[in-house]
Amino acid sequence: MNKVLGIDLGTTYSCVACIDSSGKPVVVKNSEGELTTPSVVFFESPSNVVVGTPAKESGTLYPDEVVSFVKNRMGQSGAVWSVQGAERSPEEVSSYILKKVVADAVTALQGENKLDPDETITDVVITCPAYFGITEREATRKAGEIAGLNVLNIINEPTAAAITYGISDLTDSRVVLVYDLGGGTFDVAMIDITQNAIKVICSGGDHSLGGKLWDDRIIEYVAQEFARQTGSTEDILSDPETFQELVLSAERAKKMLSARDKAPIAINYKGERARVELTREVFESLTEDLLERTILLTRQMLEEAVQKGYASDRVSEILMVGGSTRMPQITRRIQQEFSAPVKMFDPDEAVAKGAAIYAGRQAFFAELIEKTAQETGKSPKELRDEIRSGNVDVQEMTKQVNLQAGVMGVGADIDIVNVTSRSFGTIAYKSVTPQGDGEQEEVLFNMILKNTELPAGRVQDFFTVAPNQKTVTIRVLESLCSEEVAEPCEGTEIGEAILELPEGLPAGSPLKIEFVLGENGLLEMTATETTLHQEVRARFETADAISEADFCAAKQRLEEAMVL
Ligand code: AMP
Repeated sequence: MNKVLGIDLGTTYSCVACIDSSGKPVVVKNSEGELTTPSVVFFESPSNVVVGTPAKESGTLYPDEVVSFVKNRMGQSGAVWSVQGAERSPEEVSSYILKKVVADAVTALQGENKLDPDETITDVVITCPAYFGITEREATRKAGEIAGLNVLNIINEPTAAAITYGISDLTDSRVVLVYDLGGGTFDVAMIDITQNAIKVICSGGDHSLGGKLWDDRIIEYVAQEFARQTGSTEDILSDPETFQELVLSAERAKKMLSARDKAPIAINYKGERARVELTREVFESLTEDLLERTILLTRQMLEEAVQKGYASDRVSEILMVGGSTRMPQITRRIQQEFSAPVKMFDPDEAVAKGAAIYAGRQAFFAELIEKTAQETGKSPKELRDEIRSGNVDVQEMTKQVNLQAGVMGVGADIDIVNVTSRSFGTIAYKSVTPQGDGEQEEVLFNMILKNTELPAGRVQDFFTVAPNQKTVTIRVLESLCSEEVAEPCEGTEIGEAILELPEGLPAGSPLKIEFVLGENGLLEMTATETTLHQEVRARFETADAISEADFCAAKQRLEEAMVL
């Protein structure tokens, strides 16, 4: 068995998969015997932290000590929960979820004799919405590191689902649309599956659109019905206990409506009682705009695919992933909008399994490259380039270094190509006159455009603005715009680097700026002053990422706590 795990760190539920001895991905149950674990953390005391179903159920009694929907705030500056005497960042709260799901998986695998009693697993691949920017990805990585994990990569959820799906049948080439509606996020991606490659063409979505919003609509409706039935003018939702109870019953009712026409919801508030019978029809009309937003985002993504030469009629099937696609109105509406057949595909497990396949593949290649480098004297980079170019036979290479066939796992010889979900650029000055003299305006110059294949890179010439300029500040921004030149306000600044210039350079002296975005989504930027070849190299420590001090404090708290 490969000693790696794939983790779907979901907004509402998380799931872990490993690769079994036959090379297939399987989901590992948690200590409660469940295949998915609610992404909810109950800080019972500073030293006792409960994760999962028991934490979710504690929300009603201890609303101030229970944290949920943390993923929606991943990478946001200033996002903290003040619980049990500490300010907990989204990275820290997520680290408890990761710690629990990995520890449970290790215990389960030891119990099945797939791991020795003293063996553990730390190598993981974690998934995130395709829509996540660089800061949110970095925050996810940091959450893994706080939990003591070695995060091999962060990959997109729809890509992971497509890997699982693609690998289940590689005989036919096809283009699939992955519609992934989870608890807190919506992702949509177009993916080209061929016999030897799984390639993301385009992705889009909204990281605050998910099943929770459907629940919120039920909560609002029930509160209004309570007021109507009892005549009460009080805001029942401002009472934390009543609110938490409604959160649970709204989700329960929503799930019930996926199978039945009606769902009852009872509310007790200060001795007054009301009973609401929510019909599927009312529920669908309360939430219609949310569903329409997913359709709009899907159409936008398809338009971008057309610009890349993939017409929407090339989509041969639509994969429905994520727990919220179980709502029947979703499939019905998708089927009405698009002509390709709709398939429900392993909604809860596909993402974690794809992450496990990817992790296994990455571990396999790392070992193959290390062993081949030792035997041939070639550098790891040289070998990686040879494999990527398709000039070498991976199976042959595997035999030559005597790697066990089982280690190779499913999908090791399949190329997996991803795209960037954001554009990355820098602030430059553009003349406002056609002659290029006089007044200049700031523009956002995108070096790497959204939906470009990874790894991606570009070198571009820029020029100094003033005579004897001492420094150039290179501000790096990410954005969702698809044009090379855009308004600076369309981007979000994610970091900067300062290039010191030699004395006496005239205005208009040349500079070279290079952006390289790796397969792991990490951005590197190099700036060179080309008159005297002075260079600054900056790997982005993103502006909003957790500080070193907060990281160490969070790690220490987690190490000292018992995570159940
Ligand atoms: P995921 O993030 O993919 O685990 O999806 C979790 C979301 O799916 C949550 O909002 C759940 O409430 C929702 N969900 C799970 N099962 C159902 C169901 N049977 N009907 C409607 N929504 C569901």
